[in-house]
Amino acid sequence: MSKDIATISRTLEIIQKHGFHFKKGFGQNFLVDLNILNKIVEQGELTKDTYVIEIGPGIGSLTEQLAKKAKQVICYEIDKALIPILSETLQEYDNLKIINEDVLKADVKGMIETELKDATDIALVANLPYYITTPILMNLLGQKLRINRYLVMVQKEVAQRLSSTPDTKDYNALSVLIQYYTEPKIILHVPRTVFIPQPKVDSAVLRLKVREKPLVEVEDEELFFRVVKGSFIQRRKTIFNNLKQAFTELSSELILEALQKANINPQTRGEALTIYDFARLSNIINNMTHL
Ligand code: SAM
Repeated sequence: MSKDIATISRTLEIIQKHGFHFKKGFGQNFLVDLNILNKIVEQGELTKDTYVIEIGPGIGSLTEQLAKKAKQVICYEIDKALIPILSETLQEYDNLKIINEDVLKADVKGMIETELKDATDIALVANLPYYITTPILMNLLGQKLRINRYLVMVQKEVAQRLSSTPDTKDYNALSVLIQYYTEPKIILHVPRTVFIPQPKVDSAVLRLKVREKPLVEVEDEELFFRVVKGSFIQRRKTIFNNLKQAFTELSSELILEALQKANINPQTRGEALTIYDFARLSNIINNMTHL
């Protein structure tokens, strides 16, 4: 058995041996702390029945720990320079598959349908650069894939925003949408000092348990998303003014009436509303516009 990848000495050795150059554009910061990795794996409740989809394995530090615990690990890595490195660092594991693709362009749904068709427990694990976290999560959650939970390490501020509640400074459209699909919880704080190279920000691990069905029942999901996003266009504006800007095809009178019917003060701000308020409002707008 070779030494674990997630130590400073082994990581530097691998990088030097392969003449690897970090690419900032891909957000490459590799974890070198086994304790943290063990906690992620523990909190992920991975068992020999779990299939893991990992995004961005890097040189394999987290992948290795996942492969030890899970039934199978399928990774998407965008950087082709890392593929030969991974084949070497993870050669001991026969329950691994590495796909050299940008996960945002990959057919994850198709992969799950073909390769994981018998899986009963699927976890998606990723240590992601902040600028792709939102598109990846929204894209995958929106497709309602057979993924049971997400464990994502992201910039601390992003984790706080994604798991925040009404009337807090971090609460925004994304927090509502995450709540719609999942039960979010920050399970671990990760200091910047455990990465090579060291990033400028601290991180946190967010666990998103996918709900069996969305938290609220909405008649038109697309309209619900528009109402939520529209309500936060400008934080300091009232919900009435934001919705007027978001729904230019609707009259001010209709928007005002919908807010009144939903029992929402038009002068309030989006950040004061709960997901139940947004659901009620979008169902009322749906009924008023589909007469
Ligand atoms: N998992 C490793 C660790 O924890 O040490 C590496 C994490 S590093 C922060 C992010 C990884 O995601 C890099 O290996 C990077 O090349 C990869 N990556 C970035 N964007 C990606 C994308 N769109 N699709 C797949 N992989 C991506």
